[in-house]
Order: sequence, then structure tokens, then C-alpha cells
Amino acid sequence: MGLTLDSVVTLPSGATLPVLGFGTAGATGRTCVAAVGEALRVGYRLIDTASMYGNDREIGIAVRESGIPREDIFITTKVASSGQGPRSTPKALEASLIRLGLDYVDLYLIHWPARRKRVATWEAMTSFLESGLARAIGVSNFMVGHLEELRAANDTPPAVNQIELSPFLQQREVVADCRAHGIQVEAYSPLTRGRRLSDPTITRMAAKYGKSPAQVLIRWSLQHDFVAIPKSARPERIRENAEVFDFTLAPADMESLDRLDRGQHFDWDSSHVP
Ligand code: NDP
Repeated sequence: MGLTLDSVVTLPSGATLPVLGFGTAGATGRTCVAAVGEALRVGYRLIDTASMYGNDREIGIAVRESGIPREDIFITTKVASSGQGPRSTPKALEASLIRLGLDYVDLYLIHWPARRKRVATWEAMTSFLESGLARAIGVSNFMVGHLEELRAANDTPPAVNQIELSPFLQQREVVADCRAHGIQVEAYSPLTRGRRLSDPTITRMAAKYGKSPAQVLIRWSLQHDFVAIPKSARPERIRENAEVFDFTLAPADMESLDRLDRGQHFDWDSSHVP
């Protein structure tokens, strides 16, 4: 059966991660409450935040105002580098939960592979699974070397690796490593932060399928089995970005999009972090 906005992937802990989520970086204050409220009305059930975004209070408000049962919404947040370390990480999660006004998060991620801190951070995070404060734990911006180091140090694998992915940045090596080890790949900045929406291959596909460039990019992510978390603060785009389940990019068109790989980051690049 084809994917829908209700489709999920089941993580090893049993937590179910929606295939399409809603990004919130840069959305703050009332704009954030309104955007997350709109996303929940449209039917998104995965909301992605981070302590760095400074919007967890607003997300908590939008979740409560939605009237949707807590257990039907999947909330991801992340520990910033400043919150990493064996003693700091439990405090960072506690502070996030207080700001969100929640008893648990569905997914807690190490935001960045902070050197010398990330392994001890991961060890601290495994206790959140036991205490139930996080239903799943994972990492973000981890490259192959970072994942190998974690595997060598700890038996609990990350459920998710959230990395920047688009046709212009396919990170094939780390994606293959995640697949080989059962780590779900999540695509951030799937819309290239709006920077390549007028690329001729993307606009050609958009015209062919009668969809928008953003919809083509999201569909490319989903057809690669990446969970995608596009962000928008505008109601019409929030809706547009969820209307990606009524078309399928043909294999030849996926191949054309795959040929756009330029190793081009529109966000931060962790490949230089030893
Ligand atoms: P995206 O690739 O999602 O692009 C967002 C930009 O595209 C915004 O400027 C938005 O503008 C614009 N946009 C959205 N929809 C459309 C559309 N349909 N047509 C035209 N323009 C559109 O970038 P993000 O960097 O925000 O990535 C998504 C999410 O991933 C983040 O919000 C965050 O949750 C997460 N993330 C995680 C990182 C990490 O290190 N783990 C790093 C970066 C992001 P407007 O809002 O005005 O619509």
C-alpha cells in the first residue's frame, strides 16, 4: 500500500515515527504556536524541535491547544553541545520537558557530534529509555566515523540519525552505514532551505507531475525511505508540503534527481568533526 500522512516507521523500541514531520527551526513566539497548530490541524503528527531553537514552550502550547491526545503526537527534541556530558544531559532533558510541559519526549537526539562529549552523552541517554523520559533515542549530524565510535563504546544503537539530505546532498556513505545497522535516516533541510527550488531538473519534474518543486523534493526523500521534516511558517505551504501522497516519482525520474548530487550543504557540515 502507498504511503499516507498517517504512515509510520516502527523503531526498535516500538515507538512509531511518522514518515513526514514538521520542522520548526527559526519559528518562534506566536508564529511558532500558529505554525505548529496549523501543522497539527493539517494532519502532521511529528514535530521536530531542539533546545537550540528556543521554541519548546510554544510547541508545548500548540500541542495542548490542538486537543489531540499526547500519545498521538510524536515530539522530537535534541540536546545541544552545551548540554552534553554525563551530568549535563539529564538536566538538559529535564529542562526541555519542563519548557515543553511534557512528561516524556518521543525521540531525543544528540544534536551535534561534540568531540569528547558525545560517547558519554550517549551513555547517559540510554537511561532515558529505562526511565521512560524518552521513548526512543538517536543522533543527528553523525557521520560514519562518529557512528562507528558509538558502536564500539556502547551496545545500544541509535534509533535515528537526522542528517541534511536533498538530491543535492545525498550523503550516500552515511546513509548506507545507517541502513546496514538498522538506523532510520531522517532528512533535515529537505527543501534545501528554499535555495534550489528553481533548479531546472526540479521545476521540470514539478511541471511533469503537476506538483510544486517543494513537493517533488519531499517525495524524493520519502521514496528513498527517509523521514522528511520540511519547515514552513506559512499555512498554505504547511498544507502544500503535506500533499505529497497523491503522486509517485517514476524510477527514471528518481534517477534524474539522484544525478543532482553535488555534496552541497545548505546547513552545517559535521564531516570535519574528528
Ligand atoms: P527546509 O529545507 O525545510 O526549508 C525551509 C525553508 O523553505 C523556509 O525558508 C520556508 O519558508 C521555505 N519553504 C517551506 N515550504 C516551502 C514551499 N512549499 N515552497 C517554497 N518555500 C518553502 O529547511 P530547514 O533548515 O528548516 O529544515 C527543516 C527542519 O529540519 C528544521 O526546521 C529543523 O526542525 C530540522 N533541522 C535540523 C538540523 C539538525 O542539525 N539536526 C539542522 C537544520 C534543520 P517559510 O517558512 O517562509 O515558508
